[in-house]
Amino acid sequence: MKFKIAVLRGDGIGPEITDIAVRVLQAVGRRWDHDFAFTEAHAGGEAWDRYGEHLPAVTLDACRAADAILKGPFGGPTSEINHPKWAGIETTAILGLRRAFDLFMNLRPVVVYPEVVALSPLRPEIVEGADMLIVRELTSGIYFGERGERTVDGERQGFDTESYTEGEIARITHGAFRIARVRRKHVTLVAKSNILDSSRLWRDVMARVAPEYPDVTHDYLHVDNASMQIITNPRQFDVMLTNNMFGDILSDEASVLAGSLGMLGSASLNAGGFGMYEPIHGSAPDIAGQGKANPIAMVLSAAMMLRLSFQLEDEAAAVETAVRAALARGLRTADIAGAGGTLVTTQAMGEAIEAALAG
Ligand code: NAD
Ligand code: MN
Repeated sequence: MKFKIAVLRGDGIGPEITDIAVRVLQAVGRRWDHDFAFTEAHAGGEAWDRYGEHLPAVTLDACRAADAILKGPFGGPTSEINHPKWAGIETTAILGLRRAFDLFMNLRPVVVYPEVVALSPLRPEIVEGADMLIVRELTSGIYFGERGERTVDGERQGFDTESYTEGEIARITHGAFRIARVRRKHVTLVAKSNILDSSRLWRDVMARVAPEYPDVTHDYLHVDNASMQIITNPRQFDVMLTNNMFGDILSDEASVLAGSLGMLGSASLNAGGFGMYEPIHGSAPDIAGQGKANPIAMVLSAAMMLRLSFQLEDEAAAVETAVRAALARGLRTADIAGAGGTLVTTQAMGEAIEAALAG
């Protein structure tokens, strides 16, 4: 089989970790005789250097011509936020890509493998066996709403708007229930319906959609309570459905269960099943180019691509097993080194995963 993959290596640690994910995919191609064709395209800071914009038309064309997008993180150091190379990059490049392909469904699995239980700052008996999927709405809500600055009573006022249509909520709610069917069949909606009208609409839609999935149970938590339960009783969660901003925040928090942001991959899908795959973390400018980055989040994102875009379940599972094998050998990048083991570079971790995959 031939699969076309657009590769956006990204900024900061992006190139280091993306190169490893590509090598892992090439190893899968060799072992199973698949033809993965990679097309490098540019977005974010690297596109700014080449084209003077963050998301040029040539990049969108390359992504359109592909079967899936593999994306590194974009963005510069917080101290250079106003430099034109970096200013506004979240909206222009990151939200721009999500919008261009209508990637409204963001899947963020949080799996605590037995090999990594000790990596979490939380007690093993709390995190052991946790296996949840955060389903985050990705193309609407406050990150896309009307925003700006105005003058009120002679004072500057900044504002952002949270709004959702029924249709936007319904399509992701259906998505969450469908995925729950092939998991442990439970959906938890997280919102703030005691205050927000938009949250009340999420609950209304949930109540309307849920009866179509009688085999799936569901419940509801306010976001403040949910954020506490994620770290006190994470095993209760199967599928967690939530809006754009809550999903952003809760998934960084949930990454603590798995030990590090550098351990979690994600998939962003549209209604047609087209997907973009990226780690949940950012470009980590503080450690860029030093061989310190954990490539696992990026590699697990590539595994999700195999599973969800190419229906290569065995291959996806083999990549996940290879990651676990590298961890079981005690190999640790700096972000997960706290619990002992052997400190290795980004590249050495990548080679260990490749080696485990070759068998
Ligand atoms: P970040 O996720 O880049 O880093 C937070 C902390 O986690 C840092 O200490 C970093 O060193 C560490 N870290 C992150 N990924 C790691 C990995 N794979 N291995 C080891 N350590 C890792 O978040 P930030 O510092 O808030 O943001 C940095 C830049 O990334 C900003 O410009 C931000 O806008 C951007 N960003 C981009 C995306 C995206 O492209 N989707 C997402 C989030 C942040
Ligand atoms: Mn985030």
